[in-house]
Amino acid sequence: MELPRRISIFGATGSIGQNTIDLLARDPDDFEVVALTGASNVAQLAQDASRVGAQLAVTADETLLAELRDALSGTGITVAAGEGALLEAADRPADWIMSAIVGAAGLAPGFRALRHGTTLALANKESLVTAGPLLLQEARDRAAQILPVDSEHSAVFQALVGEDIAAVERIVITASGGGLRDWPLEALASATPEDAGAHPNWDMGQRITIDSASMFNKAMELIETKEFFGVAPSQIEAIVHPQSIVHALVGFRDGALMAHLGAPDMRHAIGYALHYPDRRHLPVSRIDLAQLATLEFIAPCETRYPALTLARQVMETGGYTGTCFNAAKEIALDGFLARRIGFMQMCGVVEATRDAISSKISLSNAPGSLEDILAADQMARDTTWAQIEQHFT
Ligand code: NDP
Repeated sequence: MELPRRISIFGATGSIGQNTIDLLARDPDDFEVVALTGASNVAQLAQDASRVGAQLAVTADETLLAELRDALSGTGITVAAGEGALLEAADRPADWIMSAIVGAAGLAPGFRALRHGTTLALANKESLVTAGPLLLQEARDRAAQILPVDSEHSAVFQALVGEDIAAVERIVITASGGGLRDWPLEALASATPEDAGAHPNWDMGQRITIDSASMFNKAMELIETKEFFGVAPSQIEAIVHPQSIVHALVGFRDGALMAHLGAPDMRHAIGYALHYPDRRHLPVSRIDLAQLATLEFIAPCETRYPALTLARQVMETGGYTGTCFNAAKEIALDGFLARRIGFMQMCGVVEATRDAISSKISLSNAPGSLEDILAADQMARDTTWAQIEQHFT
């Protein structure tokens, strides 16, 4: 592998972005940072852009351009703002791009990077859920590689090295159960964003932490698994594993079950994608098996986690259902964060949105372009807000 490699990080100011910068900063001679992007946290963006010597810093929020320019004046770093600037950042030649913007906003920059044949380290799970077949086709057409960064998918990817996907019988991804795992079922309706926003094992952004408690996060990962590895929905399972040490298991037709174990630290999956196909030393803690002693696995109760049932319907139907599922789930989470709906109402909102949209478009039709997907995404968002207003508040 030739060094230094040219790297850009989309969503640099977030949890995944910061962990990526942590790894880059440990080997400064190996990497040349092309672009860093953020949105609201301009101070962090400016600080990191200076620290790693980025060529370009972009905020998605145009109203913050002047603030970013002031913060980086005299550094020689180019600054820009807005959605168009994000796409231009993705046009800048790079060898490896981290896609770690949260939400559907991460979709277009990822597509743009693939168009140039750039390797895409994919943390933004919304990309595969909303546009999986198109994204993978774009990568094939441009001979670009997508490397999974979600810890479960990185674990499966690693377990599959040297294996034939046709020999895979099943893929099992684990779930911590989130911050409300031990709450009685009847108490969940009164859970607040603060209750759901505390994770027992992983240190992540607020939205994904709440999605862990509701298992919308695991629902997304089931769909991602189907899209990325191309296996049938019936071959994919989720299991609650409170210790978050086993990230995923791959079962083969000879009965072997290969597990990937690691400390709950995203720098492992990020580092694997960063150095792929090499394995380099990573600053993650090593597992002491004797200290661990017990690893528990519990079948998830779908009454408690109805998002898993919705994910199965998405995987079976395909087409626009992933786009609508993701958009509705993002708006339902906004509604929960704004205290307009309760924790257990989020699934009902997503379901009601799906039913309302199915009278407007044929959900099983395959989207033909990114524009089709973005239009369906917008329609689903508007429909979700209307459902919340009319039926849930
Ligand atoms: P964070 O919320 O911590 O960070 C999100 C990043 O996206 C920030 O840089 C934020 O900028 C930026 N951003 C927010 N809105 C926009 C927008 N409209 N346009 C452009 N940029 C925007 O998220 P995480 O790092 O936790 O997660 C990032 C992605 O990775 C998500 O898709 C998540 O599901 C996935 N993921 C995360 C994991 C984790 O451990 N955190 C694990 C596996 C996957 P700013 O902060 O400046 O506003």
